[in-house]
Formats: sequence, C-alpha cells, structure tokens
Amino acid sequence: MATLEIKDLHVAVAASDEDGGSEGFKQILKGVDLTIRDGETHAIMGPNGSGKSTLAYSIAGHPKYTVTQGSVTLDGVDVLAMSVDERARAGLFLAMQYPVEVPGVSVANFLRTAKTAIDGEAPKLRTWVKDVNAAMEQVKMDTAFAQRSVNEGFSGGEKKRHEIVQLELLDPKVAVLDETDSGLDIDALKIVSEGVNRFKANADKGVLLITHYTRILRYITPDFVHVFVDGRMVEQGGPELADELEAHGYDKYVTAKA
Ligand code: ADP
Ligand code: MG
Ligand code: MG
Repeated sequence: MATLEIKDLHVAVAASDEDGGSEGFKQILKGVDLTIRDGETHAIMGPNGSGKSTLAYSIAGHPKYTVTQGSVTLDGVDVLAMSVDERARAGLFLAMQYPVEVPGVSVANFLRTAKTAIDGEAPKLRTWVKDVNAAMEQVKMDTAFAQRSVNEGFSGGEKKRHEIVQLELLDPKVAVLDETDSGLDIDALKIVSEGVNRFKANADKGVLLITHYTRILRYITPDFVHVFVDGRMVEQGGPELADELEAHGYDKYVTAKA
C-alpha cells in the first residue's frame, strides 16, 4: 500500500540576491493539494517557472526549500519530518530535472550504496551484478556505463536512462519524475517511457510525472492530469486534459489569474 498525500502545501525558497540586495524568502508553492493512491499515475503540467520542480524538491526534502504551511504524508506518516535518506527508505524516489554529476563515484558503486541505504543491508553481490546489468540492458545502456562516474559527461538521454535504471533497482513505492522527457530524442523517450510503464504496471506503485510538454503522455497514460500555474493546481481532469493543453497551451490559465 502506498498513498502520498499532499495537503495545503506552501513552500518558500531563500531568494538569491541577484542585485546584491538583501535576501528574502520567495513564496513559490501557494497551497498544493494532491493525493496519489496505489496504482495511480498523476501528471502535473504547467508553464515554466510555475513551481513544478519546487514541488518535486519539497517532496524529496531539498534543504533550499522551506515548507511554511501544509503537510506531506506517505501512508499517514509525516514525510516532512524525515531526513532525505529516511524519505528514500520510506519508499520515495525523485528523478531530478537536472541530475547532478558525481565525479569519482562510479554508477555501480552509487547504485549499490543507494540500494544498501534503502534496504538496510548490502545486496548479494552475485545477484546484484546481474540485476544491474539487466536493468541497464532494458534501457539499452551499455553495461560499460557501470564503471563511469555518475552522470559525468552523460548525454541528456543517458542521464534519463540512468534514472530509469535507478527506478528499476531501488523499487520505490512512489516515483516523482521531474521532466524525465526533457532533452530526449524519440528513441530515448520510448525507452524511458517503457521503463516508467514497467514500474507503474505494478498495482501498488504511485507515479507523479511532472512535465511541460504533452509528448511523453502519448507513451505514458496518466490516470489524472493536473494543471499547475503560479504555485497552485488550477484544474484537473483525465488524459483528455493533456490533449486540450496540447491544442491550446497554458494561456487560458495564465491570463485567468492576472
Ligand atoms: P518549474 O519547474 O515549474 O519550471 P521551478 O519550481 O523550477 O518551476 O521554479 C519556480 C519559481 O521559483 C521560479 O520563479 C524560480 O526562479 C524560483 N526558484 C526555484 N528554485 C529557486 C532557488 N533555489 N532560488 C531562487 N529561486 C528559485
Ligand atoms: Mg498503474
Ligand atoms: Mg522544473
């Protein structure tokens, strides 16, 4: 069982002082409500700068983002009180819009360390190597990638495939995928989408798919589509809402708020 429940979430970020002026807090999320139940895939769509990544980072526990109001729970347990590691152990997975490079740490070691942290014990080496190779083959990643530094010099597509490898191996309860489609050519998009579909085919998994473009939703069918503008959900519907957004864009919502 896995239910991720977000209630009235308000999040602020420490604003960087571009003019060298004094820093302050900028309110980005202004009351987000969202419940993801077992087996549900939710797509969040919205214009750039609307706060979609802020929502993902807040769920993951990024220190830059301060929750000023509201709650996030996983199966009734307070997620916001957990450290980043505890969130991962509880079954939350975040694939970032801009994956970080980790020079000097091989993909193989990174995956094994993450798996060990989540399971509380190191995976058996023999089966683990097989599992890693199988996961890499499924996303058509050369197994030689296992020896390379995490994300260093990876193309956009390779970074996203690596995220699907993580998803496959770490087997979370709820996966938050932020712009997993950005920068992918059509072949990579299909491979990545297939990976997400394999994950969401499990009846007990939840997916939060954050995207700016409707393209990925031709390969991954969401149960719900939410329109996100200026730190809030402004509309929700089924997959047909994505088609409407494709045809008409976000103008209607952005103008409506002005
Ligand atoms: P989206 O993912 O929808 O494009 P983001 O969540 O990345 O939107 O950003 C929402 C707003 O918050 C933007 O105005 C962005 O500039 C601002 N913001 C996000 N993160 C930071 C940060 N670390 N420092 C300052 N401003 C930020
Ligand atoms: Mg499902
Ligand atoms: Mg973003």
